[in-house]
Amino acid sequence: MSQLMRPSFDQRLIDRYGGEGPRYTSYPTAVHFTPDFGAEDYIQALAESNRLPIPADLSLYVHVPFCANPCFYCGCNRVITRSVTAGDRFLASLEKEIALIAPRIDSDRRVRQLHLGGGTPTFLNHDQLSYLTEMLRRNFSFASDAEMGLEIDPRTIDPQGIRLLREAGYNRISIGVQDLEGDVQQAVNRIHDTSMVAAVFGAARAVGFESISLDLIYGLPLQTTAGFARTIDTVIGLRPDRLSLFNYAHLPHLFKAQQRINEEQLPTPKTKLAIFRNALTRLLDAGYEFIGMDHFALPGDSLVKAHQNGSMVRNFQGYSTHGGLDLVALGPSAISQVGDSFAQNERKLDDWAIALEEGRLPVARGLTRTTDDRLRAEIIERIMCTGRLVYRDLERLFELKFRRYFAEELARLEPLAEDGLIEWTEGGFEVTPAGLLFLRAIAKHFDAYLNPASDQGGRFSRIV
Ligand code: SF4
Repeated sequence: MSQLMRPSFDQRLIDRYGGEGPRYTSYPTAVHFTPDFGAEDYIQALAESNRLPIPADLSLYVHVPFCANPCFYCGCNRVITRSVTAGDRFLASLEKEIALIAPRIDSDRRVRQLHLGGGTPTFLNHDQLSYLTEMLRRNFSFASDAEMGLEIDPRTIDPQGIRLLREAGYNRISIGVQDLEGDVQQAVNRIHDTSMVAAVFGAARAVGFESISLDLIYGLPLQTTAGFARTIDTVIGLRPDRLSLFNYAHLPHLFKAQQRINEEQLPTPKTKLAIFRNALTRLLDAGYEFIGMDHFALPGDSLVKAHQNGSMVRNFQGYSTHGGLDLVALGPSAISQVGDSFAQNERKLDDWAIALEEGRLPVARGLTRTTDDRLRAEIIERIMCTGRLVYRDLERLFELKFRRYFAEELARLEPLAEDGLIEWTEGGFEVTPAGLLFLRAIAKHFDAYLNPASDQGGRFSRIV
């Protein structure tokens, strides 16, 4: 029995509302960060965060930028190399970054969450990962029950490595699977057989990882409805706690790696939708709950509970149970959020390392939110996470008359209400099952930075 609403699938609505839109892992989105925001602004934000009556606890993120092989669908910031010493040099620079940041954060602020992303965190060998973890533990105060997670490429780790990660304190992993069909893997240059994934998964279960998440991508070259159904069924058989089903965004003008994708092999929009619909149905029928956008979880998972009790949040890692934390992000291109300030590091590994070599924080751009930004961020997060808006709540928080302040936005939502994506309530609106697949399409009406005339030109991924 589903605990959360099941999304319904309507081709007519997809044609109308499935176009491009930001993923809203932040508001304003990162494309609006500016170089006017620099290291001094970030330092000031950190200082102010310490001065709050109750300073926020911390979420740490480390971007490990290396991969041994390029996946052709990749849209991430990464460096392709097989050099072990590249990892050592990275850790030496990271140590410098930590030395600049950690003393600026009061030591009684606990780390509640750590996430290693990339790139490929498991590009680092076990000694390097241990060194990294110990370095973080030495410089920050970890809560005894901190969530410690990392992304795993099953090609780069064996069951013994999984056991060592658990012993180092990691309790959550996310395994990149994408697709298990051999021809699709060849077409995207990411080859690992099912037994490799199953071995890593089984080892993680055996050593007691609290949460295992698997990532899949639909819309890749040579994918078919039947082939992807086999992948989904195999994955369902493993029973991960969480599943992400990402929509491949083919944006070769933005991501060079994607220029190696043979466009003739991409599924047609019709096939892609059929793949998605089939996967969605299989996951829901197998008992997975739809969290939002591309996320699914088993009933009883902390994300489902957070969704039910309204505490789920959205941040740079997608949907999360951890709200109210300051995010301190380390490594090239990593984005921190401290209070109302976003600070993004230099994207290029060399630029990031040079800044640290010179004793500078490697902040390249960022932004401090205005009151209007904070208000809209709150609205967008509520739509994305709870699917409902109660105007009175926002009026209390921001001292405004909601209907007057957002008269234009509410007028723009009228057609969505007529199409059944939302339902007006006495003092707000709620997303319906028909609207669940279009949370971004609903939320974007409150995005003051979005220009409908210029933001449909391949800048964002498709909503469905
Ligand atoms: S998709 Fe992931 S593993 Fe593949 S190249 Fe990009 S960052 Fe590396």
